[in-house]
Amino acid sequence: EKKHPHEAEFLEAAKRILESLSPIVEANEDLYRKNALLERFVEPERIVSFRVPWTDDQGKNHVNIGYRVQFNSAIGPYKGGLRFHPTVNQAILKFLGMEQILKNSLTGLPIGGGKGGADFDPKGKSEAEVMRFCQSFMTELYKYIGANEDVPAGDIGVGGREVAFMYGQYKRITNLYEGVLTGKGRSFGGSLARPEATGYGLIYIVDEMLKAAGKELKGQVLAVSGSGNVAQYAIQKAESLGAKVVTCSDSSGYVYDPEGIKLDVLFDIKQVKRGRISEYAERVPGASFHAGERPWAVKCDVALPCATQNELNGEEAKTLIENGCFCVAEGANMPSDEHAVDIFLEKKILYMPGKAANAGGVAVSALEMSQNSQRLSWSFEEVDEKLKGIMQNIYKNVSGAAKKYGYEGNFVVGANVAGFEKVAEAMLSQGMV
Ligand code: NDP
Repeated sequence: EKKHPHEAEFLEAAKRILESLSPIVEANEDLYRKNALLERFVEPERIVSFRVPWTDDQGKNHVNIGYRVQFNSAIGPYKGGLRFHPTVNQAILKFLGMEQILKNSLTGLPIGGGKGGADFDPKGKSEAEVMRFCQSFMTELYKYIGANEDVPAGDIGVGGREVAFMYGQYKRITNLYEGVLTGKGRSFGGSLARPEATGYGLIYIVDEMLKAAGKELKGQVLAVSGSGNVAQYAIQKAESLGAKVVTCSDSSGYVYDPEGIKLDVLFDIKQVKRGRISEYAERVPGASFHAGERPWAVKCDVALPCATQNELNGEEAKTLIENGCFCVAEGANMPSDEHAVDIFLEKKILYMPGKAANAGGVAVSALEMSQNSQRLSWSFEEVDEKLKGIMQNIYKNVSGAAKKYGYEGNFVVGANVAGFEKVAEAMLSQGMV
């Protein structure tokens, strides 16, 4: 706190992560202290911050602040998304970077942790303005990244279009055709199954959790929030495995379909027409739209928050459990607020935090890096099969770590400890660097 008095978001997150690491820290206290391990773990290896000048369509000049937090490279090149949003600042990126180290470690793949972005607001900007911004951003960032050094991806405000603009500029400046960004288009090195990865991965880990509890996904009733990339493919995979998904939502409200969400209608509304989820209820008899509400009062066995942060609070957590929900797994990043998390842990339901549950996205990004390095493109089935194995492994490691340190069933401790264990071991082996 003395070193970073103005970084409230980072301090809060670091405190929560360090608290949940206390079982492993206590078990290795002397070793960690001697090697200043925690002091090194909480401090990014490097932060670059730079100006991003650009000119809008009216000829007016603007300057935004760009960042890349290269947090930890003990187990692989820095990897993590770029976020373009007006709220972006160094403290938030440091907090996200720290989370990313543990998530990336959980995948079992050789990727370190990083995060970056700019306080640029893409809303309302023309395509030409977005392109000029991306080019200006990359004109500085290219000095610090590389296929074996730091491999950014998309995040809020940075989708396929922005990744492509940045990739084009990187290639133009460096004359290198290398896998320096992931989330690329299929025609220039993007991986098959990347769009599906987070949603599918979520369902694979839920399947593992249920099996370990002596249950099965087939026949369970699921409440899903969101109707974006993660939600759509989670619904598709869940239904293909015999579960019934009765809700999905967007920021204007949620849809309830007691017969189970019809995928063809959902995909048509979201992917073809790019419409609002309320249209679902207009098109499907028996379905209803609940404006301004979230789906957590609906009776379900399993709840999958897949929309956004802080979309499930303590009261809603209580309601879910009272209605018989026994499993919550997070497709989104930090959708359950801290009260909700406390209730899930206290009531001992099956609760898998996003760090583990939505790691399928970054895992397939790492598989995209492998394909780019090999100059190969794997089939959809190959990538999907690897993804499934990775998620099964994550479950095994998370539940195993929780048990090993005396917190059986607490997957919050399990995920942080399992992720940290490998990073700590690598940092200790590599000496005081
Ligand atoms: P999308 O932008 O595709 O979809 C987001 C969905 O959430 C939309 O349906 C959106 O509705 C809804 N939503 C946004 N804000 C709110 C709100 N305040 N209240 C209710 N609903 C809201 O994003 P993704 O599906 O890609 O990502 C969803 C979450 O998953 C995010 O937290 C993201 O960080 C996380 N995640 C995504 C990964 C990926 O691979 N895509 C990987 C790991 C995590 P509307 O259209 O009205 O805005």
